[in-house]
Amino acid sequence: MPAQTVLQKLEILADAAKYDASCASSGTAKRNSLGGKGIGSTEGMGICHAYAPDGRCISLLKILLTNHCVFDCHYCVNRKSSNVVRARFTPQEVVDLTLAFYRRNYIEGLFLSSGIVKNSSYTMEQLVEVARILRDEHDFRGYIHLKTIPEADPEIVHQAGLYADRISINVELPTDSGLTRLAPDKNGRQIEGAMGKVRNDIVELKDACKRFRHAPRFAPAGQSTQMIVGADAATDADIVGKASSLYTAFNLRRVYYSAFSPIPDASAVLPLKRPPLIREHRLYQSDWLMRFYGYKPTDVMEATEADGNLPLDIDPKLAWALKFRDQFPVDVNRGTKEQLLRVPGLGVKAVGNILTSRRHRALRLDDIARLTVSIVKIRPFICTVDWRPVTLTDRADLRSLLAPKAEQLELFGV
Ligand code: SF4
Repeated sequence: MPAQTVLQKLEILADAAKYDASCASSGTAKRNSLGGKGIGSTEGMGICHAYAPDGRCISLLKILLTNHCVFDCHYCVNRKSSNVVRARFTPQEVVDLTLAFYRRNYIEGLFLSSGIVKNSSYTMEQLVEVARILRDEHDFRGYIHLKTIPEADPEIVHQAGLYADRISINVELPTDSGLTRLAPDKNGRQIEGAMGKVRNDIVELKDACKRFRHAPRFAPAGQSTQMIVGADAATDADIVGKASSLYTAFNLRRVYYSAFSPIPDASAVLPLKRPPLIREHRLYQSDWLMRFYGYKPTDVMEATEADGNLPLDIDPKLAWALKFRDQFPVDVNRGTKEQLLRVPGLGVKAVGNILTSRRHRALRLDDIARLTVSIVKIRPFICTVDWRPVTLTDRADLRSLLAPKAEQLELFGV
């Protein structure tokens, strides 16, 4: 077989990386090349945190070092037994591509993952080598996200954190039984052990940075992980419970959810159909509620339906409010911040504006309408000086009144 060109490898290895959703480039340290030093920047002009409509980050060169793999995870297109065309970059080729794309202003950084060749430590060394050449030899100051292999030597993983802005280790599946069945070469305890070590390194070196000016930084944008949704029988309640325990135990920046998509030449143990994409979206919404709205994991679990999954037709906040109607209506002129954050349709910003405005005068329904996008969704759950929902909050058909109307999609729409 003739040797592949870099372009052919890029085609194969960029396509192979598309199943990984954990590539948001947020929250790192500020670096730039002002003053003629270095190349790249994580801030200012030229850094555009662009996201595809489905929430995936599109501003990084997102590739695999190789799609060869000695593991056989059933849900993965790159597994050992998969019949796909294989390719492998050298670290220098990835460096050259990153710099070339960066100079053309196509990307703000690099998201690099890999199948496992030879063994985990060898592969991790290759990933670190890419970051080392970029940082040490080219003084690259753009964003680097390295996917980390939990089975690799912890010292090499530590090196990764010294070069990368963010490192991530995928837990892959929310339950141990799912992991055993679908990723037989992986071990949940080993994955969490590696996440714990990364958490300790982040804390230790952050502390050192406060005390010593020249202490090295370690993954300043933190660590993240990804869970695949819909490849096993785990419910949304299982997934939310797992995500919450990961946030608490490992101080994660983000948990990403990736709706399982049937892959070419799929293993027979996988479902034939992908879960609806809206399920992934509902999980992100529940994640948001826990991170910014003060919901506990148990609150989100209470919003699930009898099958343990979040409803698809309404968002989890509305689902919770409909189940706990005795908590409403909330008086916008007297309610606490926590109570206001539970009102469907009121965002964090609107609640802040309400708290500020009501210091000066009693708020009317019109005032709330001006501060929010849709007063129709909010009305059943609040009262103001001139509005009480009376029986509206308890109406049996409230869910159908508030659920977004299904849209007829254009057959040939773009
Ligand atoms: S380790 Fe598993 S998930 Fe990762 S590339 Fe190999 S087969 Fe795919």
